Amino acid sequence: MNTPVPSPLIDARQLALDTALQLLQQAGAYLPEAEPYSAEWLQGVLDALCDLSSKDALTGLVNRRSFEMAMAREIDRVARSGEPALLLVLDIDHFKAVNDTHGHAAGDLVIQAVSRAISDVVRPMDTVARVGGEEFAIILPNCPSSFGQTVAERMREQVARLPVEVAPGKSISVTISVGGAFAPQWVRSSSLLWMERADRQLYRAKAEGRNRTCMEAQMESLVSAEEKGMLFAATQLQDSE
Ligand code: GH3
Ligand code: MG
Ligand code: MG
Repeated sequence: MNTPVPSPLIDARQLALDTALQLLQQAGAYLPEAEPYSAEWLQGVLDALCDLSSKDALTGLVNRRSFEMAMAREIDRVARSGEPALLLVLDIDHFKAVNDTHGHAAGDLVIQAVSRAISDVVRPMDTVARVGGEEFAIILPNCPSSFGQTVAERMREQVARLPVEVAPGKSISVTISVGGAFAPQWVRSSSLLWMERADRQLYRAKAEGRNRTCMEAQMESLVSAEEKGMLFAATQLQDSE
């Protein structure tokens, strides 16, 4: 007996993909080389669209929406594993003056240069995002507190000594302020609360004169081994429901 050939559920040629393809082309995205409208090609188009919707166009960094998803995943991991994870938030100092003095295009070049400088000093496992105009955020999973402070300072120094060419033969330099907070271990926090705590440190860095790093003191966990076990059992129960 012949095995019946499964018929495809949809014919991809019936899909209206013109706008999606145009969007990918305009963004200079990689388009799949597979036979157009084959399953492999369609998968490639979907992957490219996902990639485009999770990245910031100016810097190529992760965008805010995607970063919030990464934060939620990290909070879940910290709650289960108890590993320390650090959130850093960065803001370029007096950036409005850069735009006002040198123009918006020069401001964009500064944002791109800062994005490269901070990406250069993090580990491959860290997630760097542009979360606002001249604001960035980084998740550093499994990060001992001494390492967090070192990496934040390294970022700040790297940016401060960076010449950014904003016009032929004209270079300027900028500084950043950095705030940091660890995710509470063995408890389930929220992205919003974690971000608020890091933001508070950033405001402190601004208020204390800018071009500096302020970190929240890492709280000693008062959760007992028995309570940690209870948390883990509770999450297993939820998972099996
Ligand atoms: P502070 O040191 O307190 O952070 O001061 P600031 O001047 O950096 O802060 P403020 O929030 O007043 O200015 C941020 C400016 O960033 C205002 C806005 O016009 C500009 N901006 C936001 N997004 C972009 C962008 O994509 N490109 C450029 N060139 N400028 C942007
Ligand atoms: Mg700002
Ligand atoms: Mg600023």
